[in-house]
Amino acid sequence: MITASYRRSLTISAVRAAIADARRNGLTIACVPTMGALHEGHLSLIREAKKRADFVVATIFVNPLQFGPTEDLDRYPRTLESDSVLLQEAGVNLLFSPSVAEMYPDAAKPPLSATTPNHSELRSAINPVEVSSPGYDSEFEGAIRPTHFTGVLTVVAKIFNIIQPDIAVFGQKDLQQLSMIRRMVNALNFPIEIVGAPTVREDDGLALSSRNRFLSEADRKNVVKIYEALSAIRSSFEKGEIDAVRLKAVGLDVLRPLKSVLTLDYLELVDPDTFIPVSTAVTGTGVIVALRVGNTRLIDNIIL
Ligand code: AMP
Repeated sequence: MITASYRRSLTISAVRAAIADARRNGLTIACVPTMGALHEGHLSLIREAKKRADFVVATIFVNPLQFGPTEDLDRYPRTLESDSVLLQEAGVNLLFSPSVAEMYPDAAKPPLSATTPNHSELRSAINPVEVSSPGYDSEFEGAIRPTHFTGVLTVVAKIFNIIQPDIAVFGQKDLQQLSMIRRMVNALNFPIEIVGAPTVREDDGLALSSRNRFLSEADRKNVVKIYEALSAIRSSFEKGEIDAVRLKAVGLDVLRPLKSVLTLDYLELVDPDTFIPVSTAVTGTGVIVALRVGNTRLIDNIIL
């Protein structure tokens, strides 16, 4: 289906004008932020947004602020032209795909330090004001990627201020990100409803991710174990096991045969709102996992 009203805007002022038009026509507005390299998971968020609002804005922006100094910013896949076709077919009304200079005008200025700037100097040169959530942004993904959530919250806050949507849709695939965004919206009084959408998976259970394309054929077969481990924990829980240590052991047993190829960052049972580990699992407990295979890092989770 091709939407007659599809538009693509590169600038904040063009987006604001298009949104003002939609508002004048009394339309409700949904926003789906992405980094592009779109797959069925992203498109499911668009479908969710279309169910809930009249005018859907997707954003594609590979946000340098959320990548650490040694992370995969340069090799992150960028497929803007084919993404745009997919979004138009999915019925998106407006695609906002700004440049780094549009989002971070200060990035064009010389680094603050005369010597080689360190990462935090570079970051403050990119955006002089940041949104962070001390106390919550340093566990799990935050522990392994120390500045990641500050980068995410800052860019999402900017996107929210630019688009001013009624609702915004995010994937449960990035469960910690979803909880951080909900916390930010509550703490900073954004009048935006945050909708979490279920994780879309391949037939064998692997969660769709823009990074899956980097997996070798052999690794692709091995990473099926991630969902197998999560599913084994779920089935053990459903049979009555509630002790978090024992449930975790069930998942580790599934991953252990692959320990020479998969490097586990964490496997934990947590409260999905606070990301504090639990000792007893209940319905609604989050099971989160992150691991590395070759140069690719994958995360996944289920809710019991
Ligand atoms: P990304 O482009 O990876 O930053 O993701 C953009 C949005 O898509 C985020 O809200 C993700 O949680 C969501 N997303 C990514 N992968 C999936 C998936 N397999 N199923 C559902 N949502 C997803």
